[in-house]
Amino acid sequence: MPRTLPLLLAGLVTLASAQAADKPTRIPEAALTTAAELRERALADDTAWEFTEGLTTEVGERLAGGENDAKAREWVIAKFKALGFDKVWSEPVTFPKWVRRGEHAQMTAPFAQKLAVLALGHSPGTPAGGITAEVVAFDSLDALKAANADAVRGRIVYVGPRMHARKDGGDYGMGSNVRTKGPSLASQKGAAAFLLRSAGTDNNRLPHTGVTTFENGVTPIPAAALSSPDADLIERVLKRGKPVTIMLALDCGIEGNYTGANVIAELRGRSKPNEYFIMGGHLDSWDPGTGAIDDAAGIAIGVGAAHLIAQLPQRPQRSIRVVAFANEEAGLYGGKAYGAAHAKDIKSAVLGSESDGGADRIWKITASVKPSARDAIAQIAEAIKPLGVEYDATAPGHAGSDLSAVHAVGMAGLSLHQDMTRYFDWHHTANDTLDKIDPEQLRQNVAVYAVVAYLAAQAEGDFGSKPGAFAEDGHE
Ligand SMILES: [Zn+2]
Repeated sequence: MPRTLPLLLAGLVTLASAQAADKPTRIPEAALTTAAELRERALADDTAWEFTEGLTTEVGERLAGGENDAKAREWVIAKFKALGFDKVWSEPVTFPKWVRRGEHAQMTAPFAQKLAVLALGHSPGTPAGGITAEVVAFDSLDALKAANADAVRGRIVYVGPRMHARKDGGDYGMGSNVRTKGPSLASQKGAAAFLLRSAGTDNNRLPHTGVTTFENGVTPIPAAALSSPDADLIERVLKRGKPVTIMLALDCGIEGNYTGANVIAELRGRSKPNEYFIMGGHLDSWDPGTGAIDDAAGIAIGVGAAHLIAQLPQRPQRSIRVVAFANEEAGLYGGKAYGAAHAKDIKSAVLGSESDGGADRIWKITASVKPSARDAIAQIAEAIKPLGVEYDATAPGHAGSDLSAVHAVGMAGLSLHQDMTRYFDWHHTANDTLDKIDPEQLRQNVAVYAVVAYLAAQAEGDFGSKPGAFAEDGHE
């Protein structure tokens, strides 16, 4: 046999299997007709509103590992069952339990003034009586990075860049970076404590909490967010050229581990029950508000969409899952547990999109799928175009915070981008309450998800989920 023949044969086999694998995924006409009916019914359905109203009224704040963690899970399990899902189950999630007991702060010199602060999640407490120290201010994380440790040691570091409202929420990358990385950087330079201007876009005197992280080997230091008007106050006093001294007292910290759970509800597919579309949101919230926009609405949107699909005369071909994820806020623990538990059967998760950007109108769809599924995504995009959603075929679709871990191990993902112009006015504050949700815009979200979930479940062919397939665009 000539030496080239095996190579040639191998080449032909590769070509043949590549052609088989590349048969374009398509959405059948009949499915598009049903999806158009779902879309119209969703615009007159208040299941999602009732879910959000119920969770925020009957449970309220849902700090991960707090006393409402189990109560919220029981509430959501009962609701899933009452809504007629075929199967409801829990999968355990273990994480460090962080507790907030209280906090207060004041400027003690040169002018005595109270300051509105909230401790950051995973911050340690201060000694009783607080820490009193002079402030050293930076206008960015890079400025703190460049600072000489002598200027920082023993002081309270303040980092004060301001976020601006944007439809795509783009400034949050910067704001959350200051919050998550700032305290660790400040500690490495010997700071006594860390303060930031809240990662938010409002001018209310309500601070925005959120998690921080300390790198391995770094001593955790007390860290808190100032309301934006209090950050302005500090900056005005600093401009007078006088040393500013602050007293910061935080009573909080990590108290061992807690085991909660992801709660999963499923509509069983008619012909391919082991393949599924996945959506939902996270059940935990920060504690000052009632977690309406972040993220009762996210689960509610999935619930509303699945409930409409459940009322069709027959189940779709594939299954549809709605997940209420555990502890997203303090480090994506629920999403990571789901990714670890389901990595081995990643091809079963044909496509997914989580909702975690409030409840305002969805304006754009982007996707990370295999090239031969692009036409099917274009068909899905066409079906949600009447809802005012544009298709950007060039940007990736990360699937959302809790689904980022499962996307990173190979699940094809969509991003259904919500208008986030108002979101960071209230995110992680006492103002995250039900009144911030516009029922009409919430229904538009449900309509988008109902169409997308149904069409993904009816698609002929898959979207390219396989181990490692989208690892390069995974994110948090
Ligand atoms: Zn969230």
